[in-house]
Amino acid sequence: PVVLGIESSCDETGVGIVRGTKLLANAVSSSMDEHVRFGGVIPEIAARAHLEAFVPTLQSALDTAELTLDDIDAIAVTSGPGLAGALMVGVSAAKALALATGKPLYGINHLVAHVGVGVLEGTMLPPTFGALLVSGGHTEILKVTSLTNDVQLLGSTIDDAAGEAYDKTARLLGLGYPGGPAIDKAAQDGDKKAFRFPRGLTLPKFVGSAENPGKHRNNFSFSGLKTAVARCVEHFEANGEPIPVADIAASFQEAVVDVITSKAVRAMQEQGLTTLLLGGGVAANTRLRELLAARCASAGIALVVPPFSLCTDNGGMVAALGAQLVADGAEPSGLDFATDSSQPVTQIVLSHK
Ligand code: ATP
Ligand code: MG
Ligand code: FE
Repeated sequence: PVVLGIESSCDETGVGIVRGTKLLANAVSSSMDEHVRFGGVIPEIAARAHLEAFVPTLQSALDTAELTLDDIDAIAVTSGPGLAGALMVGVSAAKALALATGKPLYGINHLVAHVGVGVLEGTMLPPTFGALLVSGGHTEILKVTSLTNDVQLLGSTIDDAAGEAYDKTARLLGLGYPGGPAIDKAAQDGDKKAFRFPRGLTLPKFVGSAENPGKHRNNFSFSGLKTAVARCVEHFEANGEPIPVADIAASFQEAVVDVITSKAVRAMQEQGLTTLLLGGGVAANTRLRELLAARCASAGIALVVPPFSLCTDNGGMVAALGAQLVADGAEPSGLDFATDSSQPVTQIVLSHK
């Protein structure tokens, strides 16, 4: 089937088109530039930007695929999780398109869509696998038994997302926004062992054992790390000494990446999973890729990292999951569903009320 996928959960307006497992178009327009001066995504601005960008982005995707709306068999749209106002723009547009064309509409889970890109040609996943999603809004370990009806959340952050921790720490270091790329770059010239920053939720009382797992065995916390960096910066300021930005950036990054990679690999081993898919904007991080590849290799886990344009928010991933749902004969969502800002990962497709 040819499926149109629409994404508007955060600051990217995405429209992708998939035929089966082949990606025909993936147009993305980001409002990131408009949020830079505020140091974070402003929901109202993001929603307004989706409204402006949607039709041109749709047109661009159709042009690239050399198709018209008549050629589309089904439409999929992110219904959640995400920013409520931003989601409403994409869902409203998708419903209007579905009504006008008479095509079935699927309201789908954004997190599962991040994983769904794995079915596209050139990526290819086994039926059962694990996923590590790390972005500005998410830090999650998932177990995927069936992409279209069985996804389980093994663990997630209890405070900041990994990308959010990068963004907040970059601000403390005066590195600007978005902070991830800036810290990644600054860290190249730093010593990752200069400071020993805290590794969140790694104490035995949180982790427990395989037989008797602690509540936070697979969970993450980055707020203590952020505070430790703040105290470290204050210490140098109080002594009138220059702040060793590169060393702090490298040490901070090592703390984040060490925890993420060790928890993800352990979760895969405990679940008996031998393939791990990496997704989300933080997947661009040099050190994360390096350490995760090394730790997966020594644990005998195949690491799958889709092209970066498919790791960040885009419509192609929504179309890819939509095409799987159509192929599996899943029931469409109808036209009366709402958005769900905190749609749980277990709810892959919204059903009729
Ligand atoms: P969502 O959480 O809904 O997927 P988002 O827009 O918050 O959406 P992405 O667009 O996937 O997330 O990713 C943006 C995040 O990725 C930002 O927090 C940014 O700092 C981080 N990031 C980007 N490049 C790097 C990098 N090289 N190293 C670390 N973090 C990075
Ligand atoms: Mg984004
Ligand atoms: Fe996302």
